Amino acid sequence: MAAAGTSDDAHAARPRVLVLGGGFAGVGAARQLKDADADVVLVDKHDYHTFQPLLYQLATDLLETAAVGHPLRDLFHEQPNVAVHQASVTGIDLAKREVRFAEMAPVSYDYLVLAVGAQVNFFGTEGAAEHGFPMYTLSDAVRLKEHVLQRWEAADRDPALVEDGALNVVVVGGGATGIETAGALAELYRAEFAKDYPALPQEDARIVLVEAGPALLTMFKSDIRDYTKRTLEKFGVEVVLGEIVASVGPTRVTLKSGTELEAHTLVWGAGLQAAPIAALLGLELEKGNRVPVEADLSVAEHPEVFAVGDVAWITDTKTKQVLPQLGSVALQAGERAGENIALRLAGKDPEPFAYHDKGTMATIGRGAAVMQTARGKTIKGKTASLAWGTVHLALLSTGEDRAKAVVDWTWAGFSHERPGRITVRTDEE
Ligand SMILES: Cc1cc2nc3c(=O)[nH]c(=O)nc-3n(C[C@H](O)[C@H](O)[C@H](O)COP(=O)(O)OP(=O)(O)OC[C@H]3O[C@@H](n4cnc5c(N)ncnc54)[C@H](O)[C@@H]3O)c2cc1C
Repeated sequence: MAAAGTSDDAHAARPRVLVLGGGFAGVGAARQLKDADADVVLVDKHDYHTFQPLLYQLATDLLETAAVGHPLRDLFHEQPNVAVHQASVTGIDLAKREVRFAEMAPVSYDYLVLAVGAQVNFFGTEGAAEHGFPMYTLSDAVRLKEHVLQRWEAADRDPALVEDGALNVVVVGGGATGIETAGALAELYRAEFAKDYPALPQEDARIVLVEAGPALLTMFKSDIRDYTKRTLEKFGVEVVLGEIVASVGPTRVTLKSGTELEAHTLVWGAGLQAAPIAALLGLELEKGNRVPVEADLSVAEHPEVFAVGDVAWITDTKTKQVLPQLGSVALQAGERAGENIALRLAGKDPEPFAYHDKGTMATIGRGAAVMQTARGKTIKGKTASLAWGTVHLALLSTGEDRAKAVVDWTWAGFSHERPGRITVRTDEE
């Protein structure tokens, strides 16, 4: 069952770098090995790279699937030393230097880059895994989008469903994922759906953002937190602070205080945990799930193994703070890991990772974003939206993607059109 480029016969030729995960971190690492005298094997359980910062735009019909997921193979057409395979990691043997997969033969390595990202954490909330809609993968975003569209279609056929909460959405989590999703849903509801479903009492459709803490966007300064709350409320989002979701049913969400919200949709943007693959390393993990790394991003006592991106626990060499799970951290760390492997292959010493912080930001809606620079300066509104666009364009994987994003965003900004408002059933006759 050996896949092309992975059999151990081929391994004899030159060193093999095995990259697990084709997110920002994995792609960054593999690209940095372009000129290395090594074979690079990149394996991901999907055949595409997901641009997570735009998932909420897919979920709210602003972008189509292909604008958020890009074929992984396409990213390496110009890099002949990379072989891409689609398979799920099931085991890692550090002593044997070998990784096992569900769908293909084991692959041995000289260097390993663990870049498998993170996944949703429901913190054991009753019913959340069964009835909630997380926002972490491409399929999560498509599932949420189709569910919301189907609820509006159902209410259109039977308006009594409106009172039962068919159109109501509870968004859990006052971090960037929660506020971006709530804001985008509000725009979709108040602009597009108001026209699509003129017979439905659109003003009765509630979007409720529930946050356990006393404020939204706690990592930002207070002026940004206040602006975010005010702006969301202006868009028609109800912000509930200091409340915890206790349980989730198909049509009801119950808060710890006992309040019951009628809502057929609950979006979970309240937490994540490193991909469970991290536990397969058999190492002591930070917070029970993230892989601690040395300054050069290698794993202690395994200089041939690097962990980068959301799966890793990376301490900033300058500030001594643990770096957040962000796309820019993942991309830069992935590139440093790739570069360090290239240095090692060339007989040189690896270098410590130094994160270049371009600021933390979030979008609340069209022309309404927030940004805080590394030095603590805060920016709100259209200027922050432009900064968001610039930083996220830099994260997109190809020039073609960047051009497409500029066209899509500009067009959406002018036309307010949402072309993704269709559901495609694959099970129909
Ligand atoms: C909704 C949302 C919005 C965000 N917005 C922003 C933002 O605005 N700005 C920002 O900087 N960051 C943002 N982030 C965070 C950012 O997207 C992540 O930090 C970044 O994607 C992490 O990159 P990564 O390469 O570590 O992991 P990922 O991008 O998650 O990639 C991991 C890859 O590993 C693969 N994989 C996982 N398990 C296996 C397995 N067992 N076998 C094989 N393959 C596997 C996955 O398929 C995936 O392709 C957002 C995240 C989310 C969820």
